[in-house]
Amino acid sequence: MVLLMLKIKADLENLTNLNPTGGSDGSEFTFYFKVKCGGCGSISEKDSTVTASEQYPIPKSRGTAHLVQKCKLCDSVGNISLIDGRGKPYTAEDSEAGKFVPVACFDCRGMEPATFSLRDGWSAEGLSGTKFENIDLTDGEWSEYDERASASVGILNIEHTFDVTK
Ligand SMILES: [Zn+2]
Repeated sequence: MVLLMLKIKADLENLTNLNPTGGSDGSEFTFYFKVKCGGCGSISEKDSTVTASEQYPIPKSRGTAHLVQKCKLCDSVGNISLIDGRGKPYTAEDSEAGKFVPVACFDCRGMEPATFSLRDGWSAEGLSGTKFENIDLTDGEWSEYDERASASVGILNIEHTFDVTK
């Protein structure tokens, strides 16, 4: 098995605590990525999804995972699970330092995320304390107006990486 950290880096404007936690209305964040087969190395054509509350049985095992998928080319079956408590919000300080920060961690067996698709469902806080939810980062950037601060807020230059961890 391999543990992979999904890390992000972004320029936050008058914002802090960017994170993939879903909305206060109970909507959950879904991770979308293409997966690379550990058997033959091919990368899936369509995005696969991982949502914390959705688990599937792993074949020939009593365990469950957040994603169980069979490779279309070599038929090998792999699975990926989201590990709780390994990510943290991306803060204004992280943005100033230009750091990559882990926002989620995945336990990968027989396949790994290859390319991550940002999409929507992100949350963040204005430096004024205003909460912003269901932020859509599909275009790689986002902006809004924070009335409490009388200032614009935004997310620019977002990048991500998957790093092997322990
Ligand atoms: Zn394969």
